[in-house]
Amino acid sequence: FLGGKTAVVTGSNSGIGLGVAVELAKAGADLVLNSFTDAPEDHALAEKLAKEHGVKVRYIQADMSKGDECRALIEKAGTCDILVNNAGIQHVAPIPEFPVEKWDAIIAINLSSAFHTTAVALPMMRKAGWGRVINIASAHGLTASPYKSAYVAAKHGIVGLTKVTALETAKDAVTANAICPGYVLTPIVEKQIPDQMKATGMSREDVIEKVMLERQPSGKFATVEQMGGTAVFLCSAAADQITGTAISVDGGWTAL
Ligand code: NAD
Repeated sequence: FLGGKTAVVTGSNSGIGLGVAVELAKAGADLVLNSFTDAPEDHALAEKLAKEHGVKVRYIQADMSKGDECRALIEKAGTCDILVNNAGIQHVAPIPEFPVEKWDAIIAINLSSAFHTTAVALPMMRKAGWGRVINIASAHGLTASPYKSAYVAAKHGIVGLTKVTALETAKDAVTANAICPGYVLTPIVEKQIPDQMKATGMSREDVIEKVMLERQPSGKFATVEQMGGTAVFLCSAAADQITGTAISVDGGWTAL
């Protein structure tokens, strides 16, 4: 049902971004994939998805830590019916030791990039008479954990930006929603395990069971396919009046 629509997914050469892109392609959307790299694998991935799903797929390099590159990504895409702001990084450290450059990078990539892409995409959506903004926030957009100051601040920020985007587009056929995943086993989570081991002095198994999945009552990681399925639902007519919300896909984490 998304035939003829173009989805731009930031940070989509791995993890949740890629999972969301695949589900949107299965529903018929053309894709613009993105990351900060410009490797042969990135372009090969675009070709592979195009072949597998019979849709048009472009890979456009742009560094989401830089406002002008965020804006250029949407301009180069030329059309953007579905904008998925997904690019994100993490760093784990207590506030007094939190490196300032990591704070700045996390706020830029996880929060400000969505402001820049949305600013360029909204006029395109209004002109097309339909649009969807889907911000990949986090359970950490609704609740906090120690040692994740920048990440939690950025994710709460993007939930707020989602609400403002929804209000500013309420009279248009455009919606803006956040998806708040709990733990999904992707490279960003894999990379946190050694940091958490250092911060807590626990083993890998204990970090997974007692720190990560301890917060997730289901005791299971959520999957990238489930995030993609939620995005596809948000693009459906059933979701026309769903706007300004934060949808948790977290195995019950934020119900605790
Ligand atoms: P990931 O590390 O697999 O993917 C992150 C993506 O962002 C990659 O494609 C990477 O290339 C891209 N990226 C990083 N820096 C970039 C930059 N400067 N410019 C452009 N692209 C850049 O991680 P993921 O788990 O798939 O995370 C995707 C999103 O989901 C993030 O916003 C993350 O905060 C959020 N999230 C993840 C989880 C989880 O448990 N995995 C939970 C909640 C929220």
